[in-house]
Amino acid sequence: MTRLSRWLLGVVCAGGLLLAAGGGPGPLAGPSPDYPRILWEHLATQVSFGPRPPGSAGHLNARQYIKSVAGGLGLEVREMRFAHSTSGGALWLSNLEIPLPGREAGRPVLLGAHYDTRPFSDEDPEPANRTKPLLGANDGASGTAVLLGLARYFRDHPPRRPVRLVFFDGEDYGRKFSDEYFLGSREYARSLRRLDRDRWPFCVLIIDMVGDRDLQIYKEVYSHESAPWLLDLIFKTARRLGYTPFIPKPRHTIRDDHLAFQALGLPAAVLIDFDYPYWHTQEDTLDKCSPESLFQVFSVVAEVVGNL
Ligand SMILES: [Zn+2]
Repeated sequence: MTRLSRWLLGVVCAGGLLLAAGGGPGPLAGPSPDYPRILWEHLATQVSFGPRPPGSAGHLNARQYIKSVAGGLGLEVREMRFAHSTSGGALWLSNLEIPLPGREAGRPVLLGAHYDTRPFSDEDPEPANRTKPLLGANDGASGTAVLLGLARYFRDHPPRRPVRLVFFDGEDYGRKFSDEYFLGSREYARSLRRLDRDRWPFCVLIIDMVGDRDLQIYKEVYSHESAPWLLDLIFKTARRLGYTPFIPKPRHTIRDDHLAFQALGLPAAVLIDFDYPYWHTQEDTLDKCSPESLFQVFSVVAEVVGNL
């Protein structure tokens, strides 16, 4: 199947679900059983573009794909372009934002994921692979897939508060020990500083590396310190839904896109499965992921964020 036909299939499948999803404002209905397939299609389509580091054709295709999914859902998408200066000149990056209205007014919930993938596989056991860009089925595509699924879900089942879905660029750009990580979330946080605080997000939840077929999500330590109430809600909801991959214990201390918001004093957390042996290697591929893992994370976030 060509890249374009995969795309069209995604759009057509998504369009067909309009009828099935139905619903309107009011108490949240459970997600339709079509969502595992929708989420998987979003993940597989991104992977079909190949590696997606900033400046690559795959990166451009991923950005276009996010816009086309939003457009197909009839949703506005805002592009926030910014330059990052490198030794080779300016690197242009873009955050994308889909704003969704809530059933009530108030400060929005920011849900974020990065759509760029790492330009090199520096954790690969094979030294010859360490300069190659990676596919990022889990690290990049999975969080983005969940956010795209939530765009549809919250359009059909408006959450209590407004929601902003933000697709961050440049999360995984930097070399190890450099300061060139989290470029998109840092830029977004800088833009918030120019606004009155009453327009800042109510809270921030980042979704990253949630596609692992052997899913295990713990309470990330910085998140546990910044937004314990949000993590409690998430893990209690997962328990009620019977999702055993959510393990309500602190484990792993991870720098990710949530830190830029914690620096502003906002409650900010990341949902991440860091027990993933293929992290930053050439093996971060589609076969390591599953629709069920994406669906479990999607369902928990849909329910928690829908009622905040
Ligand atoms: Zn990464």
